[in-house]
Amino acid sequence: MSGSERERRRLVVRGIVQGVGFRPFVHGLATRYNLGGFVGNDSHGVFIEIEGAPDALDAFTRELQVTPPPLALIEAVTCQAMAPAGETTFTIVASAHRAGASTAISPDVCICDDCLRELFDPSDRRYRYPFINCTNCGPRFTIIRDIPYDRPQTTMAAFAMCPHCEAEYHDPANRRFHAQPNACPACGPRVWLERTGQPTVWDDPAICAAQDALRAGRIVAVRGIGGFHLACDATNDAALQTLRRRKGRVDKPFALMVRDLDAARALAELSDAEAALLTSKARPIVLLRRRPDAPLSELVAPGNAYVGLMLPYSPLHYLLLDGLEQPLVMTSGNLTDEPICKDNDEARARLAELADAFLLHNREIYIHCDDSVMRVFEGAPLPIRRSRGYAPFPVRLPKAAPMLLAVGGELKATFCVTRESHAYLSQHIGDMESLQTLQAYERAVDHFIHLFRIRPEAIVCDLHPGYLTTRWAERFAGERNLPLLKAQHHHAHIAACLVEHGYAPDEFVIGISFDGTGYGSDGAIWGGEVLIANCRTFRRAAHLKYVPLPGGDAGIKRPYRVALAHLWSAGLPWDDDLPCVAACSPVERRILQQQLERAVHCPPTSSMGRLFDAIAALIGVRQTITYEAQAAIELEARCDEAEGGRYPWTIETATDDDGLVLDPAPMLRAIVGDLRAGVRPGAIASKVHNTIAELIVEVSAHLRDRTGLATVALSGGVFQNATLLRRTLIGLRAAGFRALTHQAVPPNDGGLALGQAAIGAFTLI
Ligand code: ZN
Ligand code: ZN
Ligand code: FE
Repeated sequence: MSGSERERRRLVVRGIVQGVGFRPFVHGLATRYNLGGFVGNDSHGVFIEIEGAPDALDAFTRELQVTPPPLALIEAVTCQAMAPAGETTFTIVASAHRAGASTAISPDVCICDDCLRELFDPSDRRYRYPFINCTNCGPRFTIIRDIPYDRPQTTMAAFAMCPHCEAEYHDPANRRFHAQPNACPACGPRVWLERTGQPTVWDDPAICAAQDALRAGRIVAVRGIGGFHLACDATNDAALQTLRRRKGRVDKPFALMVRDLDAARALAELSDAEAALLTSKARPIVLLRRRPDAPLSELVAPGNAYVGLMLPYSPLHYLLLDGLEQPLVMTSGNLTDEPICKDNDEARARLAELADAFLLHNREIYIHCDDSVMRVFEGAPLPIRRSRGYAPFPVRLPKAAPMLLAVGGELKATFCVTRESHAYLSQHIGDMESLQTLQAYERAVDHFIHLFRIRPEAIVCDLHPGYLTTRWAERFAGERNLPLLKAQHHHAHIAACLVEHGYAPDEFVIGISFDGTGYGSDGAIWGGEVLIANCRTFRRAAHLKYVPLPGGDAGIKRPYRVALAHLWSAGLPWDDDLPCVAACSPVERRILQQQLERAVHCPPTSSMGRLFDAIAALIGVRQTITYEAQAAIELEARCDEAEGGRYPWTIETATDDDGLVLDPAPMLRAIVGDLRAGVRPGAIASKVHNTIAELIVEVSAHLRDRTGLATVALSGGVFQNATLLRRTLIGLRAAGFRALTHQAVPPNDGGLALGQAAIGAFTLI
């Protein structure tokens, strides 16, 4: 080949290209095409210079984009011609740092098939080694302290590779070439088991001893990828009783880890899409319809039609479940209302009263990350909690945005930072009700701002003056002299849904925003809202009729009180034969009545979540709750699928500017009639779901007539209810609407920060 035929090009590849085996892949590709040059990481992504025959350069560039490594996600490749330098060999060069630049970071991914094979191969030097990984698998987000992704910037910096691992790391032909967390039993992290009064056991015997403890009904704290789990035998009532008592968790369902798909099938019905989600690299908890004959303790998920299952994702989990007959409860290692523990000392202190044994390791977790929770809806994932395996994967914005920090809501808090056309939604932080959660939140915010090189130009928060995140945002914005924007809660839900679907900031839709609670523009507690909205602005087009909520949000733990308020509001008497009236003592009834008549501490609410609570209490499904949305979840679980009936409803035109008022009084009156006629709760529950679904269609049709809009976005926590969502979509489609639902972020408040970010970004530009 003569020199004149050679060309040199510089490529810059952006996207998730670090920590996913991209450089070795480029090295292999360049070698195959006989190209000279180099590849390296910088804070932008991957840079490549290649030199050789023009057609080889073209083929290289094409293949780079068509067949990247499995975990890579290429967003853009730029190409620039350069003067040939006569380079004929291809090398990987050291990482280059550049201030202010940023690159996407891979979420944590489950162990790959190659590593899994080695894990159980007695002849392999990593046989049963709990920290086996390669360029295609292992922890990422939770161990990265800074970019570019290189070993010294991770918590693996503490471990010096042995010569054997070092050789793999530097061998371009090896699948551990530049695998940053590369380790082996000789040089890497170790696992051990601690029990009070007994000697510490190390390595494989520690895992066997942990299994023995689990078989004996003990609770074991297990340090994993993003934090601790509390594990116990899911078939053992006594173990579950102990766990519930110690955790102070009365009914809230526990997630389970099962060995494989067959074990999952023994417990739940599994569609192909659900099996695919269970085995996906993110390995989320998937909510599945529980088999009636599932060999599980009733205490796993009382009153629930679903069970949350996940497959092992770290090699340690595979070893822990290997040879164990029972499925394991694997619930977050925390006290109620506190964030998940991630450090050994923290777990020893905070989980001391909860766990009988601690399965620990010394690969530090830099940032906590809870398991994700998903369900499958119409063959696609519907996120309930978007965390490990997904965060910090960005959501694409329809338009480039200024750098912003959106602080999220109160429950299931997440936050979101934006940079160019990316919105980085944080992992799940938790309910912002304790100091520990606030600290975990601040730490995560600092980390994201640093990791993605965000210099916020504005802060976005909820309208609610009492949210911890609002007050935090006010302080943060004040200290830095940054503008603070406030986004209405239900508008933010719809905006999140619109961003997911790539809607341009000005495109209006009909937004159905149904949830438990959110601060309204008029100071009332909203939650049954129909908006005409886009990503910048909204108008309230319809809402549930206001009902006084005695005791405000504090009263929601007792749905029977909400039911009595609804009856009062609908002009229906509190007759003793109604289950919700029977659940309320005569003394409490008297106080409640005075409170309602005098309107003392009875903020008005249009909450759809509260309406579901009220109905659950009215028909005797649930009078008091111990976790959020429990009454609605149990109402859904009772639905008799065969019942196709519905109840009447009144749609009134309001006197003020607030659009239509949706009055449930006729439905409540009819439910009372059904109860007295002996109609079963399952049939009533089903009719209620049908009624709300039809109401959505009817109101949407009315608004379509007035506005011409034919797209309906469905968001808010109420749409985690798959029965309601399914029936609503059937109705909307039959009426000719296009319906938008969530697939990337949760419809609940875990997705709120994305909507806030969008509202902030598109209001500013
Ligand atoms: Zn691997
Ligand atoms: Zn080693
Ligand atoms: Fe909400």
